[in-house]
Amino acid sequence: MRHFAVVGSGPAGFYTAEALEKAYGDKARIDILDRYPVPYGLIRFGVAPDHQSLKAVSKRYDKVAESAGVDFIGNVCVGTDVSVAELLELYDAVILAIGAPNDRRLGIPGENLPGVVGSAEFVGWYNGHPDFADLDPPLDGAHAAVVGAGNVALDCARILSKTRHEFEGSDIVGHALEALEASAVRTVTILGRRGPHQIAMTPKELGELGHLEAAVPIIDPADFPPVESDELLEPGLRKSVGLLRGFADLPHNKSKQILFDFFAKPVAIEGDGKAERIIVERTELDEKGGARGTGQTYEVPASLIVTAIGYSTPPLDGVAYDERGTKFLNENGRIADRLYAVGWARRGPTGTIGTNRPDGYEVADQVVAAMPAGSAGDRPGAERLKRLLAERGVMPTDYDDWRKIEETETTRARPGSPREKFVRQADWLQAIGR
Ligand SMILES: Cc1cc2nc3c(=O)[nH]c(=O)nc-3n(C[C@H](O)[C@H](O)[C@H](O)COP(=O)(O)OP(=O)(O)OC[C@H]3O[C@@H](n4cnc5c(N)ncnc54)[C@H](O)[C@@H]3O)c2cc1C
Repeated sequence: MRHFAVVGSGPAGFYTAEALEKAYGDKARIDILDRYPVPYGLIRFGVAPDHQSLKAVSKRYDKVAESAGVDFIGNVCVGTDVSVAELLELYDAVILAIGAPNDRRLGIPGENLPGVVGSAEFVGWYNGHPDFADLDPPLDGAHAAVVGAGNVALDCARILSKTRHEFEGSDIVGHALEALEASAVRTVTILGRRGPHQIAMTPKELGELGHLEAAVPIIDPADFPPVESDELLEPGLRKSVGLLRGFADLPHNKSKQILFDFFAKPVAIEGDGKAERIIVERTELDEKGGARGTGQTYEVPASLIVTAIGYSTPPLDGVAYDERGTKFLNENGRIADRLYAVGWARRGPTGTIGTNRPDGYEVADQVVAAMPAGSAGDRPGAERLKRLLAERGVMPTDYDDWRKIEETETTRARPGSPREKFVRQADWLQAIGR
């Protein structure tokens, strides 16, 4: 019998476990470990609460967790409760699927001022992540800014601009819903270092901005290159740019605005004890398509500034780390003998939920190649792990516990919402009688 530990229960962890389960059948036991008693990673804590159809992918993950050879071991933080070296003693292979939960920083003066938050924090706050339940982002000013030109920036701008009515059917957490309803924010400026042709925004997310109840997207037509040049773009990007061009023609007839400010590089954040404005340098494209500063600067007012410029994987003791890529150092997912990385911990923070599937399957293939199905293993797996955790006073949770939490969250839901998430670790544990 082989024993495998998959660390992280986000999409990458689940697809890897699914692939291993298919390859080994009853010849292996696969344990999916997570630091939280609740699974799914960014499906729960990242994907926007008003994008419920995407979250339905978790049904597929449930099937994996409930298959005979797979166990979920929650409430165990690898690196703190148990080390990777210890897991390698206990398991035939360890696959790290811990994602990239840390915000990349701008690295400019003033970014530590109150009012500047990373998107992981802001998104975590409205999605019920326990680490950010007390974030309390300042929403009492008329101006907010989001730094970044990807879908996460769009999510943040949209959430800041929606009316309470538009959150119906979502699972946004109660504290965020109340705060957003009382918000004074009227303008959200999205700052992109380069131009419309260099965005990483997809048509679905962009299209939504054109149909908001109280907010209208605004863009300066002068920011666009000649329309003929759109023909050279790949189809998805061309569609996104077409949507942006359409925004330039919209009437400015709503009470809130989402202002696209392209060729805009933040160089400092200023304010009297808190963020009040961003100093931005106008840029132009250089020969390689990068952003080159022009020396011309201007101010963008903002008392809330959300930086959405990417994420990093935290290092883990004893695991090779790629400082430049801020992910685990790996070759096609292999870090070292019997140690692998998948998902954002392998590739960095890019791609959709679906991108993690081939990734997980590819790494599972490598595990199979190194340890063919049917070959004998001599590691003890979960039994010893649980004994070790008990000695350390760590009490793991299982999938039945998650089901109880889920049931309670569903029961607590306000009308029209699929669930009211608990936002504290203690509440999760209370829901399962701990
Ligand atoms: C704000 C945001 C919105 C997004 N929206 C979309 C979208 O609309 N559509 C789409 O296709 N994609 C979207 N994505 C991308 C998608 O979420 C990712 O592709 C995917 O979640 C990456 O999967 P992962 O398994 O690598 O990481 P994660 O989903 O981050 O999973 C990592 C898991 O590891 C666990 N973990 C972390 N550290 C430890 C540890 N030390 N010990 C034990 N467990 C640990 C975490 O609790 C978590 O469960 C979005 C991403 C973000 C950030």
